[in-house]
Amino acid sequence: MERIFINQLKNYLGQEVLLKGWVDTRRDHGKLVFIDLRDKTGVVQVVFIPHSSVYEQAKELRGEWVVAVQGKVNKRPEGMENPKIETGNLEIEATDLTILNQSQTLPISIDTEGYEIGEEHRLKYRYLDLRRLRLQKNLRKRHEVILFMRNFLTNKGFVEIETPILTKSTPEGARDYVVPSRLYHGKFYALPQSPQQYKQLLMVAGFERYFQIARCFRDEDTRGDRQPEFTQLDLEMSFPTEEEVLNLIEDLYTKIVETLFPEKTITFKPFVRLNYQEVIEKYHNDKPDLRKDKNNPNELAFAFVVNFPMFEWKETEKRWDAVHHPFTKAQNPQNLSEEEFIKYLENNPDKVLAHQYDLVCNGYELGGGSIREHNPRILQKVFEIMGNKPEEIREKFGHILEAFEYGVPPHGGIATGIDRLMMILMNEPSIRETIAFPKTGDGRDLMMNAPSEIDKTQLKELGIEIKNKGQN
Ligand code: ASP
Repeated sequence: MERIFINQLKNYLGQEVLLKGWVDTRRDHGKLVFIDLRDKTGVVQVVFIPHSSVYEQAKELRGEWVVAVQGKVNKRPEGMENPKIETGNLEIEATDLTILNQSQTLPISIDTEGYEIGEEHRLKYRYLDLRRLRLQKNLRKRHEVILFMRNFLTNKGFVEIETPILTKSTPEGARDYVVPSRLYHGKFYALPQSPQQYKQLLMVAGFERYFQIARCFRDEDTRGDRQPEFTQLDLEMSFPTEEEVLNLIEDLYTKIVETLFPEKTITFKPFVRLNYQEVIEKYHNDKPDLRKDKNNPNELAFAFVVNFPMFEWKETEKRWDAVHHPFTKAQNPQNLSEEEFIKYLENNPDKVLAHQYDLVCNGYELGGGSIREHNPRILQKVFEIMGNKPEEIREKFGHILEAFEYGVPPHGGIATGIDRLMMILMNEPSIRETIAFPKTGDGRDLMMNAPSEIDKTQLKELGIEIKNKGQN
């Protein structure tokens, strides 16, 4: 007999079916044995009647054992329905039972929301923690959101392209994670802080519209609710205006909410556009919570912050740095010629604004992007203003400057965080509740026990010697 899922049972009333799953709970009621059987689609009550061939075996069952149950789908007797579950008016009268696997008593309970359990415990046993209904819902919804993004962008002519994970440093304002090369001792790959340069090079390559559900890696000191690796919807377009990028994101986010989260309301339609300077003056931070009712988790106050400064002064390093990243296009409101503009940039790094925008929602930054500088001479000047010497520029960015000599289209894009979006949409207190296998706030994977040491032969092959073990 072919296995069916619990959410299909309503179509099988009066028929014999085969179900497979986990024993959610077991109850003995007088002579009858009841279990709630759970699969990925729900829970249903199974009853084992005395003297049936499976009764004695059913008495052995314990929570989380894995079973196959064959039985007849009956309507529950009147008054015995359970309105709390979807199959509450049905029960399975078991005719056959196979125990596929047993389970030890679980080290954490999984029948609650789980917030009351210490996170160290939950993360150590994440594969069990994930059996919890709340986390099942979070990850399944996350899948729906990502699928929606993929379909939406595909329909708009975007193509999904994977970019390398083993690559070279690309500046996004954080430290790189590095991977030593075995073949070239003393050389290192960097894990991408974002696919920024690759997506721009895909515009040089003529794809015009790219997206990726991209993993990004940033080695930052623990700062709030962040993860060393996180997922962004990353996209890039050729020939867009700033408004075209913003409208695309606005349309996508509005449709995600309206289709998948109909219980939520969007405060501003269209999303408001706010000037960075005014936002700072009024709210003293660049990601204000603009909800009319700050206690309403179902209100979504999306807004775009625009007109960021291009550079900020880094006192510790005594140099100008890009507020976003150096590939951002500086605004040239007076339409200065290339030569005049390069001079202007050099003399007024404190005054220049950028074609940069952030998407914010309910006090969180959900993402950011910009129109890019595609003129290699201006881009070169930006690198110089940031304190790079000519040979450093050649070494770090020579490839992109050269690429921009071969017919680069004007381009721009954005990247928005998926973990944080899901946190807000699922009303969760942390992004760790929306990621299957998150790391702790201090960057450890407690289940796999990473980071961990590697053996001596591996170190030798890599040409690496460890000094001051355990210290940084
Ligand atoms: N690469 C940028 C980031 O990760 C986004 C972008 O400019 O498109 O923040």
